[in-house]
Amino acid sequence: MESKHKLSEVISIVSHQFKTPLSAIKGYLEVLLNQDLGKINLKQKEYLEDAMENTVRMIALVKDLLDVSQIEQGKLDFKVNLSDLEKIIKGVIKDFSSFFKAKNCEVLFKALNKIPLINIDSLKIEQVIYNLISNAIRYSGTKGKVEITLEKKEGNVCFCCKDNGIGVPKEDKKKIFTKFYRSEKAITFSTGGSGLGLFISKAIIKKSKGRIWFKSKENEGSIFCFSLPIN
Ligand code: ADP
Repeated sequence: MESKHKLSEVISIVSHQFKTPLSAIKGYLEVLLNQDLGKINLKQKEYLEDAMENTVRMIALVKDLLDVSQIEQGKLDFKVNLSDLEKIIKGVIKDFSSFFKAKNCEVLFKALNKIPLINIDSLKIEQVIYNLISNAIRYSGTKGKVEITLEKKEGNVCFCCKDNGIGVPKEDKKKIFTKFYRSEKAITFSTGGSGLGLFISKAIIKKSKGRIWFKSKENEGSIFCFSLPIN
Protein backbone atom coordinates (compact mmCIF):
# COMPACT_ATOMS: atom_id res chain seq x y z
CA MET A 1 0.00 0.00 0.00
CA GLU A 2 1.33 3.42 -0.88
CA SER A 3 1.93 5.76 2.04
CA LYS A 4 -0.07 8.95 1.66
CA HIS A 5 1.75 10.95 4.32
CA LYS A 6 5.37 11.81 4.98
CA LEU A 7 6.68 11.08 8.50
CA SER A 8 6.73 14.78 9.47
CA GLU A 9 3.07 15.07 8.41
CA VAL A 10 2.16 12.01 10.50
CA ILE A 11 3.96 13.53 13.51
CA SER A 12 2.05 16.75 12.94
CA ILE A 13 -1.34 15.01 12.75
CA VAL A 14 -0.69 12.81 15.80
CA SER A 15 0.61 15.76 17.85
CA HIS A 16 -2.47 17.80 16.98
CA GLN A 17 -4.66 14.89 18.11
CA PHE A 18 -2.80 14.82 21.45
CA LYS A 19 -3.15 18.52 22.14
CA THR A 20 -6.85 18.69 23.01
CA PRO A 21 -7.08 15.66 25.32
CA LEU A 22 -3.89 16.71 27.14
CA SER A 23 -5.28 20.20 27.77
CA ALA A 24 -8.48 18.62 29.06
CA ILE A 25 -6.54 16.36 31.46
CA LYS A 26 -4.54 19.38 32.67
CA GLY A 27 -7.77 21.31 33.28
CA TYR A 28 -9.31 18.50 35.34
CA LEU A 29 -6.10 18.09 37.36
CA GLU A 30 -6.11 21.83 38.11
CA VAL A 31 -9.67 21.62 39.40
CA LEU A 32 -8.80 18.66 41.65
CA LEU A 33 -5.56 20.26 42.90
CA ASN A 34 -7.36 23.52 43.67
CA GLN A 35 -9.70 21.45 45.84
CA ASP A 36 -12.68 22.97 44.01
CA LEU A 37 -14.46 19.61 44.23
CA GLY A 38 -13.54 18.89 47.82
CA LYS A 39 -10.60 18.56 50.14
CA ILE A 40 -7.82 16.16 49.13
CA ASN A 41 -5.38 14.43 51.45
CA LEU A 42 -1.58 14.66 51.23
CA LYS A 43 -1.17 11.39 49.34
CA GLN A 44 -3.83 12.42 46.79
CA LYS A 45 -2.11 15.80 46.41
CA GLU A 46 1.24 14.10 45.83
CA TYR A 47 -0.19 11.81 43.12
CA LEU A 48 -2.10 14.61 41.43
CA GLU A 49 1.00 16.83 41.40
CA ASP A 50 2.95 14.01 39.82
CA ALA A 51 0.23 13.55 37.19
CA MET A 52 0.27 17.32 36.55
CA GLU A 53 4.06 17.41 36.15
CA ASN A 54 3.91 14.61 33.60
CA THR A 55 1.00 16.20 31.75
CA VAL A 56 2.83 19.54 31.50
CA ARG A 57 5.88 17.66 30.21
CA MET A 58 3.77 15.88 27.58
CA ILE A 59 2.21 19.17 26.45
CA ALA A 60 5.72 20.64 26.02
CA LEU A 61 6.85 17.57 24.08
CA VAL A 62 3.83 17.73 21.76
CA LYS A 63 4.56 21.42 21.13
CA ASP A 64 8.21 20.62 20.35
CA LEU A 65 7.18 17.81 17.98
CA LEU A 66 4.78 20.14 16.18
CA ASP A 67 7.57 22.71 15.80
CA VAL A 68 9.92 20.05 14.45
CA SER A 69 7.38 18.83 11.90
CA GLN A 70 6.75 22.42 10.78
CA ILE A 71 10.49 23.01 10.43
CA GLU A 72 10.92 19.82 8.41
CA GLN A 73 8.03 20.69 6.12
CA GLY A 74 9.44 24.21 5.67
CA LYS A 75 6.25 25.61 7.22
CA LEU A 76 7.58 27.38 10.29
CA ASP A 77 5.20 30.31 10.54
CA PHE A 78 6.74 33.75 11.30
CA LYS A 79 4.95 36.90 12.42
CA VAL A 80 7.54 39.67 12.44
CA ASN A 81 7.05 42.76 14.60
CA LEU A 82 9.22 45.51 16.05
CA SER A 83 10.31 44.08 19.40
CA ASP A 84 12.17 44.94 22.57
CA LEU A 85 14.62 42.10 23.28
CA GLU A 86 15.55 43.48 26.69
CA LYS A 87 11.92 43.33 27.78
CA ILE A 88 11.54 39.79 26.44
CA ILE A 89 14.61 38.61 28.38
CA LYS A 90 13.42 40.24 31.61
CA GLY A 91 10.02 38.56 31.18
CA VAL A 92 11.59 35.13 30.71
CA ILE A 93 13.81 35.59 33.78
CA LYS A 94 10.75 36.58 35.80
CA ASP A 95 8.89 33.47 34.64
CA PHE A 96 11.81 31.35 35.79
CA SER A 97 12.30 33.07 39.16
CA SER A 98 10.73 30.38 41.33
CA PHE A 99 12.56 27.67 39.38
CA PHE A 100 16.04 29.16 39.86
CA LYS A 101 15.34 30.10 43.47
CA ALA A 102 14.32 26.49 44.14
CA LYS A 103 17.61 25.36 42.57
CA ASN A 104 19.60 27.95 44.53
CA CYS A 105 20.85 29.33 41.24
CA GLU A 106 21.83 32.97 40.66
CA VAL A 107 20.64 34.59 37.44
CA LEU A 108 22.07 37.94 36.34
CA PHE A 109 21.19 40.03 33.32
CA LYS A 110 22.96 43.04 31.85
CA ALA A 111 22.48 45.04 28.68
CA LEU A 112 26.03 46.16 27.80
CA ASN A 113 24.96 49.15 25.71
CA LYS A 114 21.81 50.72 24.29
CA ILE A 115 19.79 48.04 22.49
CA PRO A 116 17.61 49.13 19.56
CA LEU A 117 14.21 47.60 18.84
CA ILE A 118 14.48 44.95 16.13
CA ASN A 119 12.14 43.29 13.66
CA ILE A 120 11.69 39.69 14.77
CA ASP A 121 8.98 37.16 15.54
CA SER A 122 8.99 38.01 19.25
CA LEU A 123 7.29 34.80 20.38
CA LYS A 124 9.71 32.62 18.45
CA ILE A 125 12.77 34.50 19.75
CA GLU A 126 11.30 34.33 23.25
CA GLN A 127 11.09 30.56 22.79
CA VAL A 128 14.84 30.45 21.97
CA ILE A 129 15.72 32.63 24.99
CA TYR A 130 13.47 30.49 27.17
CA ASN A 131 15.24 27.35 25.97
CA LEU A 132 18.78 28.69 26.48
CA ILE A 133 18.09 30.06 29.96
CA SER A 134 16.20 26.94 30.98
CA ASN A 135 19.12 24.76 29.84
CA ALA A 136 21.62 26.94 31.71
CA ILE A 137 19.64 26.50 34.94
CA ARG A 138 18.78 22.83 34.43
CA TYR A 139 22.33 21.78 33.60
CA SER A 140 23.91 23.57 36.56
CA GLY A 141 24.38 21.98 39.93
CA THR A 142 23.53 23.71 43.17
CA LYS A 143 25.21 27.13 43.41
CA GLY A 144 24.68 27.63 39.72
CA LYS A 145 25.45 31.04 38.27
CA VAL A 146 23.86 32.12 35.02
CA GLU A 147 25.04 35.36 33.41
CA ILE A 148 23.01 36.76 30.56
CA THR A 149 24.18 39.67 28.41
CA LEU A 150 22.77 41.59 25.50
CA GLU A 151 24.96 43.76 23.31
CA LYS A 152 24.66 45.81 20.14
CA LYS A 153 27.65 44.93 18.01
CA GLU A 154 28.38 45.84 14.37
CA GLY A 155 24.84 45.89 13.01
CA ASN A 156 23.68 43.00 15.18
CA VAL A 157 22.22 42.42 18.59
CA CYS A 158 24.02 39.64 20.41
CA PHE A 159 22.52 37.58 23.25
CA CYS A 160 24.73 35.35 25.42
CA CYS A 161 23.86 33.03 28.29
CA LYS A 162 26.78 31.71 30.33
CA ASP A 163 26.59 29.04 33.02
CA ASN A 164 28.94 27.13 35.32
CA GLY A 165 27.19 23.81 34.81
CA ILE A 166 28.03 20.34 33.51
CA GLY A 167 29.31 21.50 30.11
CA VAL A 168 29.25 19.55 26.86
CA PRO A 169 31.64 16.61 26.36
CA LYS A 170 34.19 17.36 23.61
CA GLU A 171 33.15 14.36 21.51
CA ASP A 172 29.50 15.49 21.56
CA LYS A 173 30.00 19.08 20.41
CA LYS A 174 29.16 18.31 16.79
CA LYS A 175 25.79 16.81 17.80
CA ILE A 176 24.51 19.59 20.01
CA PHE A 177 22.06 21.14 17.53
CA THR A 178 20.81 17.82 16.16
CA LYS A 179 17.40 16.35 16.93
CA PHE A 180 17.04 14.28 20.12
CA TYR A 181 20.67 14.73 21.20
CA ARG A 182 21.10 14.58 24.98
CA SER A 183 24.42 13.95 26.75
CA GLU A 184 24.48 11.06 29.24
CA LYS A 185 25.11 13.45 32.10
CA ALA A 186 22.27 15.74 30.98
CA ILE A 187 19.86 12.80 31.15
CA THR A 188 20.78 12.10 34.77
CA PHE A 189 20.68 15.83 35.65
CA SER A 190 17.33 16.63 34.15
CA THR A 191 15.15 13.72 33.17
CA GLY A 192 12.40 15.74 31.52
CA GLY A 193 14.16 16.99 28.36
CA SER A 194 13.31 16.05 24.80
CA GLY A 195 16.56 16.97 23.07
CA LEU A 196 14.60 19.13 20.62
CA GLY A 197 15.02 22.62 22.08
CA LEU A 198 18.36 23.47 20.49
CA PHE A 199 17.36 21.98 17.12
CA ILE A 200 14.25 24.20 17.13
CA SER A 201 16.24 27.22 18.39
CA LYS A 202 18.74 26.86 15.56
CA ALA A 203 15.96 26.71 12.96
CA ILE A 204 14.30 29.83 14.43
CA ILE A 205 17.56 31.82 14.49
CA LYS A 206 18.44 30.69 10.97
CA LYS A 207 15.05 31.77 9.67
CA SER A 208 15.55 35.12 11.45
CA LYS A 209 18.79 35.52 9.43
CA GLY A 210 20.86 35.30 12.60
CA ARG A 211 23.56 33.02 13.91
CA ILE A 212 23.68 30.70 16.95
CA TRP A 213 26.80 29.16 18.51
CA PHE A 214 28.27 27.93 21.79
CA LYS A 215 31.50 27.28 23.66
CA SER A 216 31.75 24.74 26.40
CA LYS A 217 34.10 22.79 28.62
CA GLU A 218 32.97 19.63 30.34
CA ASN A 219 32.43 20.10 34.09
CA GLU A 220 33.24 23.82 33.86
CA GLY A 221 30.35 25.40 32.01
CA SER A 222 28.98 26.66 28.72
CA ILE A 223 28.11 29.83 26.92
CA PHE A 224 25.34 29.83 24.30
CA CYS A 225 24.94 32.90 22.09
CA PHE A 226 22.91 34.10 19.16
CA SER A 227 23.04 37.27 17.12
CA LEU A 228 20.28 38.88 15.08
CA PRO A 229 20.66 41.56 12.43
CA ILE A 230 19.28 44.98 13.38
CA ASN A 231 17.84 45.60 9.91
P1 ADP B 1 16.92 19.16 26.30
O1 ADP B 1 17.50 20.19 27.20
O2 ADP B 1 15.46 19.04 26.38
O3 ADP B 1 17.62 17.83 26.41
P2 ADP B 1 18.06 20.75 24.16
O4 ADP B 1 17.93 20.57 22.69
O5 ADP B 1 17.72 22.09 24.71
O6 ADP B 1 17.17 19.62 24.79
O7 ADP B 1 19.54 20.40 24.56
C1 ADP B 1 20.14 19.23 24.01
C2 ADP B 1 21.27 18.74 24.88
O8 ADP B 1 22.36 19.67 24.81
C3 ADP B 1 20.98 18.61 26.36
O9 ADP B 1 20.30 17.42 26.66
C4 ADP B 1 22.37 18.66 26.96
O10 ADP B 1 23.02 17.42 26.80
C5 ADP B 1 23.06 19.67 26.05
N1 ADP B 1 23.00 21.04 26.60
C6 ADP B 1 22.19 22.05 26.18
N2 ADP B 1 22.42 23.17 26.91
C7 ADP B 1 23.38 22.85 27.81
C8 ADP B 1 24.07 23.59 28.85
N3 ADP B 1 23.79 24.88 29.11
N4 ADP B 1 25.02 22.93 29.56
C9 ADP B 1 25.31 21.63 29.30
N5 ADP B 1 24.71 20.90 28.34
C10 ADP B 1 23.75 21.49 27.60
